[in-house]
Amino acid sequence: MRYIALLPLLVPLNLYALELPEELKVPGGIALVSGKSLHDAAPTVTFGGTRVAVLGDGDTWTAVVGIPLATEVGDQSLNIRWPSGERARQTFTVSAKDYETQYITLTNERQVNPSLEDLERINRETAITQKVLSTWSPSTPQFDLERPVQGPISSVYGLRRFFNNEPRSPHSGLDIAAAKGTPIRAPADGTVLHTGDFFFSGNMVYLDHGQGLITLYAHMDEIDVEPGEFVKQGQVIGKVGATGRVTGPHLHWGIYLNSTPVDPNLFVSDDWAAVK
Ligand code: ZN
Repeated sequence: MRYIALLPLLVPLNLYALELPEELKVPGGIALVSGKSLHDAAPTVTFGGTRVAVLGDGDTWTAVVGIPLATEVGDQSLNIRWPSGERARQTFTVSAKDYETQYITLTNERQVNPSLEDLERINRETAITQKVLSTWSPSTPQFDLERPVQGPISSVYGLRRFFNNEPRSPHSGLDIAAAKGTPIRAPADGTVLHTGDFFFSGNMVYLDHGQGLITLYAHMDEIDVEPGEFVKQGQVIGKVGATGRVTGPHLHWGIYLNSTPVDPNLFVSDDWAAVK
């Protein structure tokens, strides 16, 4: 979490600061890209064809760009389009980050090598997930998030994972250890985008906070909200559980920007490492 004063870029009197996530320009991180507005309007910004959150108005704008884990190190460019139709490009540079490897042992072999029937279910759920994550709603997101559950981090974001010694997708969220039944609270105001019981994620909830900022709560014991419901920051949305592909009760917290999972640690202001 970081507060950016826009003062140096602005004419006097326009005194305000945007609350933004911490910038970390690595695969799985976030780039904050700012520019001058044209005709007092903020532009529409896309990265790899996907629309990106843009904050600010008046003289400057800041794009909050989720950098996919598979992004190549080096220069990346954003496409910028103003309401007037004018277009531009702006680049940012992505540095390397080495994520650690994690080995997990599961006793349920079907969760490592799903059956054909399971695969059909997983494919259906993947299609739903892609649709959910491509949701764009115009409301301005709140980026300073509260922790959904108090507890130590049991797995960080980005771990390169092996289940029973077989390589699988990297860890796309943050795991918080907590007892079954612990209430899970909305980290910011939002709308319930989707709820379901998925093969890997178990009972889960997606919240839409606006402009492509979407959060996921997985492996829940109980879901306490309905799709379409508006939730306030701090409202209980469900309980911690051990549903789906897990070794024990915990909350898997996922945060998405422009349809890509990014490191949730970049959104919380306190030093979570100290909790460990
Ligand atoms: Zn997880």
